[in-house]
Amino acid sequence: MRFFSSAYIKELLLLFKITAEKEKELIQLRRRLHMNPELGFSEYETSNLIAEYLEKSGVEVTRGVAKTGVVGLIRGKGDGKTLLLRADIDALPMQETAECEYASLRNGAMHACGHDVHTAVLLGAAGILSETRGNFPGNIKLVFQPAEESIGGALPMIEAGVMENPRVDGAAAFHISELPLGSIGIKKGCVTASPDHFHIRITGRGGHGASPESCVNPVEIGSRIATRLNNIRLDMPSVVSICAFQSGTGENIIPDTALLMGTARALDKATRQRLYEMILSISDEVATSLGGKAEVDYRFLYPPGENDADMTDMFIKAAEAVIGRENIIYQEKSQMVGDDFSYFAERVPSCYVQLGGAIRPLHSSDFDVDERCISIGAEIMSHFALKFLGSI
Ligand SMILES: [Zn+2]
Ligand SMILES: [Zn+2]
Repeated sequence: MRFFSSAYIKELLLLFKITAEKEKELIQLRRRLHMNPELGFSEYETSNLIAEYLEKSGVEVTRGVAKTGVVGLIRGKGDGKTLLLRADIDALPMQETAECEYASLRNGAMHACGHDVHTAVLLGAAGILSETRGNFPGNIKLVFQPAEESIGGALPMIEAGVMENPRVDGAAAFHISELPLGSIGIKKGCVTASPDHFHIRITGRGGHGASPESCVNPVEIGSRIATRLNNIRLDMPSVVSICAFQSGTGENIIPDTALLMGTARALDKATRQRLYEMILSISDEVATSLGGKAEVDYRFLYPPGENDADMTDMFIKAAEAVIGRENIIYQEKSQMVGDDFSYFAERVPSCYVQLGGAIRPLHSSDFDVDERCISIGAEIMSHFALKFLGSI
């Protein structure tokens, strides 16, 4: 049994009231975003919509941060800490197959990772916190970040100074998930993987398919490298997947070259480095042993993401007050997906949380959510912000 003070209950009721008033508007907003998806660093209409909503809600707005990013600032009453809340705003390069009334109007672009939902949730929280700004000290910085799905907009926003003026003390973000509506999934420690990419260019010596003995077949080299890399098993969680293999033009022509493309993922820096070294050495060893050459072009993308223990505890307490203790799902394992929110988490104590409500898998062509998750998310985020700033 937990007891809440009357001031606490009053604050909570106020949040519920404001969210209930805004729910319809937030769903409409999400639908507008969903119908007009934009890819990384091209989120011009999306940014405009965000900036206009923030301005209408009385939030200080900076547009064009790292090209298409938007930053909102809510100043509370008096000095205090600054909390950064982040939503990613970009869509994926894929075709929507769902036939809902708010399906994507743009060919080859779709909000299949729910970033439209993240944006609506954060705008909802912005509205709530802006209305209650007289009740808390410190500041809320609202970061609407481009290009999470491609090359990453978090680092460019940090380089543009988003962690300063006022200096950020902590950060939080939601990602939609297939957990039940009205629940969250949360975990201390590592929560996202480093989603690195690599290309392996293999050079052999082509010739007639009838005389392989006088050739160095890059297809064979590539096949062996792919088998070895796909089967790397380490003590720590990690994965290597070869996802593309391009070579050859005909049935009887041994080609000169082949190209493998893949991803290597880990949950800690040491394992990440080990995968990198193994990919380099295995590629070289296999290619050399067969008389060919392999060049690896490796791209380190986002670092693994880490949830701070105290921030996570605080988030759980805030969420319990909104959705009840029974709806907090403690996750034991990290997923092997990456998220460049990890750049914020590298700099300040952070918390990255799964929000229940997706009704189809992420990145599927008929992805959708139960839109009630938007107001639930906005309410939890606002409540967490008030807790972080010490007003409740
Ligand atoms: Zn995604
Ligand atoms: Zn995503």
